[in-house]
Amino acid sequence: MTNEPTHPLTVDPALPRARLDAALADARALVARLGHEGRHHVAATVLTAKGTYTGINLECTLPRGSICAEAVAIGAASAAEPGAPVLFAVAVNRRGEVIPPCGACRELLADFGPASAIAVAEDRDGVLRLASLRALLPETYKAHLRFPA
Ligand SMILES: [Zn+2]
Repeated sequence: MTNEPTHPLTVDPALPRARLDAALADARALVARLGHEGRHHVAATVLTAKGTYTGINLECTLPRGSICAEAVAIGAASAAEPGAPVLFAVAVNRRGEVIPPCGACRELLADFGPASAIAVAEDRDGVLRLASLRALLPETYKAHLRFPA
């Protein structure tokens, strides 16, 4: 038995640290500009090989109707680059602190960025702590099992 991680993190070469840092800065700028209690609490940035897409969460009067910032950002990426996988995602709260994705967003990322690296925290020295999506969600929802042919 080895101590090798089951789901090692591999960051796509299209994602140098400068792009990750810029993605974080974009999310912070968006939530700083639009953050509003009861309406927008979280901003996210997702990266494809070529593009950078931001999103802000949408709080709904009906709580189950609320939409996460990651979903909005993934939708923007999908509209601009249909089929291009998400390679990286980061989300921040209204204080600009990096927060990990919720379970629903992990499932969404499993569909739109199965090999993505996800920012889950930021170290005191400003370095993003990353995890592979597969480490965050080792057992994804599998529609083909729920609805067999
Ligand atoms: Zn979410």
